[in-house]
Amino acid sequence: MLDPITSPARQPEDIDAALRPKSLDDFVGQKSARENLRVFIAAARARGEALDHVLFFGPPGLGKTTLAQIVAREMGVGFRATSGPVIAKSGDLAALLTNLEDGDVLFIDEIHRLAPAVEEVLYPAMEDRALDLMIGEGPSARSVRIDLPRFTLVGATTRQGLLTTPLRDRFGIPVRLSFYTVDELRQVVTRAAGLLGLTLADDGAAEVAKRSRGTPRIAGRLLRRVRDFAHAAGEDVVTAKVADASLNRLDVDQLGLDAMDRRYLTMIADIYRGGPVGVETLAAGLSEPRDTIEEVIEPFLIQLGLIARTARGRCLNAGGWKHLGLTPPSGAQD
Ligand code: ADP
Repeated sequence: MLDPITSPARQPEDIDAALRPKSLDDFVGQKSARENLRVFIAAARARGEALDHVLFFGPPGLGKTTLAQIVAREMGVGFRATSGPVIAKSGDLAALLTNLEDGDVLFIDEIHRLAPAVEEVLYPAMEDRALDLMIGEGPSARSVRIDLPRFTLVGATTRQGLLTTPLRDRFGIPVRLSFYTVDELRQVVTRAAGLLGLTLADDGAAEVAKRSRGTPRIAGRLLRRVRDFAHAAGEDVVTAKVADASLNRLDVDQLGLDAMDRRYLTMIADIYRGGPVGVETLAAGLSEPRDTIEEVIEPFLIQLGLIARTARGRCLNAGGWKHLGLTPPSGAQD
């Protein structure tokens, strides 16, 4: 199982409304996404139109839901949220759509997991703001078209590649979110510490930022745990030393990798001599679903250059061997 503290997956305590940035100005990082959204929002508002449909894609915990809420707030419209797996039948989506108010943002998380029949309903809704309903059955069945209020669909997905082409093509504003830099995460934790009433020294903020896997959700969670350790140790100020000791106890290493990341790397090194090894084999060996490996574990390891995804499978790079403190066997791939 993924570690509940270091995993970027959403957990109940993350629904911490106070920590979520509320405006584009408050939102740290993702500079080009922010600047583009600002332009599109201003233009739509000036024309008195609903914003074009937006698709956010990128690893979990980078701020897709937060940005969707900000889009609604900056447009001055209502926000409705749901997720792909929750909408079981096309009727469920029809009910959601017909209940929207003019201009609303409808946020669908994990939009790649919509059932095909549900997705079909979405096409005319996105394109023509209309719903095609079948009334009756057999020879007397007929289709009626219902006009929908103007709305903006904001979709979020961890992997853009899993979206069907017709759905992907209907988003006028695709936005890729990438991992945050250490400096950006330093700003995220400093801001969060202020909201939590925690005294965080500059070097303490840098230490938490460096070990947050490029992900604000993890940064927030590590900060809360560091606060607990500091409290237990009777420390009033979270310095780098306090943060380091706490993060070591949480098994988060210098690069921010957790036990599962290291098991993944160690498996490729020890059992497959550095690879290549197929993702299914790794998934079976680690007892994790393939999706988790591809969407949660690998993106950051690739970003750090520790592993490579090749056509023949996953390989450990020189940096991966080094991080494990191992020497690659002679003839191993780099
Ligand atoms: P996603 O939908 O991509 O999984 P969320 O939008 O739920 O991610 O964000 C996860 C957490 O990280 C939230 O608690 C949010 O407050 C915080 N967060 C995300 N992006 C930022 C940011 N740019 N600045 C500050 N906090 C952020």
